[in-house]
Amino acid sequence: MKAAIVQSDFTLKIEEYPTPKPGSGQVLIKVAYCGICGSDIHFLAAKMIPEGCIMGHELSGYVEEIGEGVEGWKKGDPVAVYPADPCGLCDPCLQARAHLCEKNFERGYGLGANPGAFAEYMLTESSMLHRAPEDVDIKTVALNEPWAVAVHGVRISDFKIGQTALVMGAGPIGLLCIYALKHAGASYILVSEPDPNRAKLALNAGADKVLHPEKDFPLMETAKIKGKLPDFVFECAGMATTMEEAGALCGPKGQVVMMGIYQDYVSTFPLTWFMKELTVIFSLGSEIRDFRESLYLLSKKAVDENVMISKVVPLSKIKEAFEALEKPGHTKILIDCQGV
Ligand SMILES: [Zn+2]
Ligand SMILES: [Zn+2]
Repeated sequence: MKAAIVQSDFTLKIEEYPTPKPGSGQVLIKVAYCGICGSDIHFLAAKMIPEGCIMGHELSGYVEEIGEGVEGWKKGDPVAVYPADPCGLCDPCLQARAHLCEKNFERGYGLGANPGAFAEYMLTESSMLHRAPEDVDIKTVALNEPWAVAVHGVRISDFKIGQTALVMGAGPIGLLCIYALKHAGASYILVSEPDPNRAKLALNAGADKVLHPEKDFPLMETAKIKGKLPDFVFECAGMATTMEEAGALCGPKGQVVMMGIYQDYVSTFPLTWFMKELTVIFSLGSEIRDFRESLYLLSKKAVDENVMISKVVPLSKIKEAFEALEKPGHTKILIDCQGV
């Protein structure tokens, strides 16, 4: 099969790779589409992905071949894959929190030892397969992994119907948070986003208003909804300054949900949080229950794929797609993994 292989200089190259054979309990997936995740770009740039690895964890596809002992699946079934292979033995696994498995970095698909989906085929444990709803386009199914991340963030927060929220950053996760908040019954969704194209997409996704974080100053005033700061802030920008800003812009007794990844120390002024008795929580990936719920919500048209998918490119052009995402202008680029 053809696959995008990580090279020694941390770029991607299409090479021949042996098509895997499903062992006991495993299923071979014919990959249809795989989205490029911000973390793919970030981890590759940070040289965290080993040479020879196949990345890609936001996939949709079809069952191709079934290993011994696997029941209930047949060739051609449309699927989404929860992109982990939890060890089943560590404490989080025993609490059914596969997303926190201590072995996720070694065993997650597309991060290291377990090849991911920027390839024509991908091998998975059958327990990670989820039947895709028949009425959802297989392209849209590839959005399910990041969509589950947004569903998870809202679900583990204390957000209740009728409350208000500020979403910081309208990249893919920020946009998906808008959809998840709408579904959760938000009465008002404010977004802060400097890029005009992303600001427009946020409005299309259902935001009530978009602020420019530098021009709409002072934010402490412009971020008010009917005179009050928002009940929740969903931080989806992942920048050095955004945690402190999130605390400053959250209303008294409110909650800040950290969804953006930032890999360095940040400074924040404790009184910002103390004087309003704020809560901060961190949201990592999704649980399997979120992944199932988000698939169901896709069939209820909870997400507009026209807002979320900005381009589809064949596997042979994956390098160009990664480069295109380094500049603003795109939401999700999907790789057509049969388009070699
Ligand atoms: Zn992802
Ligand atoms: Zn585990």
